[in-house]
Amino acid sequence: MTFEELGLSKPILQALARRDYTTPTPIQAQAIPVVLEGRDVLGIAQTGTGKTAAFMLPSIDRLRASGNPTPRKSCRMLVLAPTRELAGQIATSAKEYGALSGLVVASIVGGTSVNKDRARMARGVDILVATPGRLVDLLDQRAMDLSSVETIVLDEADQMLDLGFIHALKKIVSLLPKQRQTLLFSATMPTSIRKLSEQYLRDPAQVSVAPAATTAERVDQYVCYVNQNEKQALLTIALRKGLATDEMDRVLVFTRTKHGADRVVKKLAQSNIEAAAIHGNKSQPQRERALDAFRRGQVRVLVATDIAARGIDISGVSHVFNFELPNVAEQYVHRIGRTARAGKSGVALAFCAPDERDYLRDIEKLTKVRLGEVPLPPSFNEEVKRIGTLSPGHSGDEAMSRNQPRRKPKAVVSAKPRGEGRGEGRRDNRGEGRNEHRGSGQGQGGGQRRRSRGGNGGGGNRRRATAQVN
Ligand code: AMP
Repeated sequence: MTFEELGLSKPILQALARRDYTTPTPIQAQAIPVVLEGRDVLGIAQTGTGKTAAFMLPSIDRLRASGNPTPRKSCRMLVLAPTRELAGQIATSAKEYGALSGLVVASIVGGTSVNKDRARMARGVDILVATPGRLVDLLDQRAMDLSSVETIVLDEADQMLDLGFIHALKKIVSLLPKQRQTLLFSATMPTSIRKLSEQYLRDPAQVSVAPAATTAERVDQYVCYVNQNEKQALLTIALRKGLATDEMDRVLVFTRTKHGADRVVKKLAQSNIEAAAIHGNKSQPQRERALDAFRRGQVRVLVATDIAARGIDISGVSHVFNFELPNVAEQYVHRIGRTARAGKSGVALAFCAPDERDYLRDIEKLTKVRLGEVPLPPSFNEEVKRIGTLSPGHSGDEAMSRNQPRRKPKAVVSAKPRGEGRGEGRRDNRGEGRNEHRGSGQGQGGGQRRRSRGGNGGGGNRRRATAQVN
């Protein structure tokens, strides 16, 4: 199957050739023909599957074909995305894909000057990518209207609902013309999304690609058991070695809280490891600068809260560290999906404190992957002494008992696709803000450390683990 066979126009084919896209991804092969036909689409696909091009390429062709003028104070195609990063990325892609089509593309997102957005919208655009909150602001100020919208895309719809955008969405959709094409993409299909699609889509074509959990297949996944207040030492050892030997190209470290992300960056700096943080307390320019430096490879370690787990597209992430395990298992899949993009493989290592074992169990149940256990590296105790433990009160934890039953390390097995009904009613707290103030609920005190190095390492994993963490 080629892009030509899917029925795309010459300018689009030329733009794709510039980007070296030769073969459509599965979601593109399914979605492009039905979008070109003008049908509504319900797409189940997560970021990383090529879904942006799946809706953008045929929509650009339809906009060209309809030939309507660029409307003042409005747009012809509206793409709604949950986060600023994702909106920015979609707009960049739209500009590249539509480079030879002469369409005007803009994005409006929170955290930037609303006056600039007003001025931008006064002239009108063909394709507008927006986060729901900022769009509603402009609609309320009557700085724009939606009467000229021919196509609306709701991207990462499940995350938009999680982030509490339902009222904004309802308002926006109520202002759209009845005669329009609606494309809804979501990584999961909980009841809320099913209902939304029944309300907003007309006889949609359904397209889907492998569920999120199968992304995990291409990621080698490991877990290291470590006390919460000693995780910094483990991270420092792993990064020092991995970055120096170039075994690690770019590393994403996930923490559960904004404060935790900043603390990890500060502590790494004390060990001469440069890292940047990205989370919801950072201003938009700060977030962009951090992402940009990471993309260019100027900073090779990015410490992020879950806002960065969805949507952002950074190639070349070789390792994902879960400094804290997410309390919602599906979030783990999104996090590790930041590596192993575009068919590459990657490594994910989870730092599991005693009180995170339930989270680990949930993750393994969801992904049907048993994480390979890696031992603490030989230099661990020394490193703990050198950099100290994190102060109790921030992230102390229960003592890790030597007697705690320990499971036998196992090789990583490949994931099987999950069954139906995944994600239904599963979570209430993935959004930035809600999740981040929750904290880990950990207890106090350092307690005994488990010295597991060597002895229990186990098989092929151990060799690999030594390479990663030592
Ligand atoms: P997305 O799921 O839209 O975030 O896309 C994930 C990544 O895959 C992006 O970096 C795209 O540029 C890239 N991509 C999308 N479609 C293709 C394709 N057909 N061939 C190669 N790369 C692609």
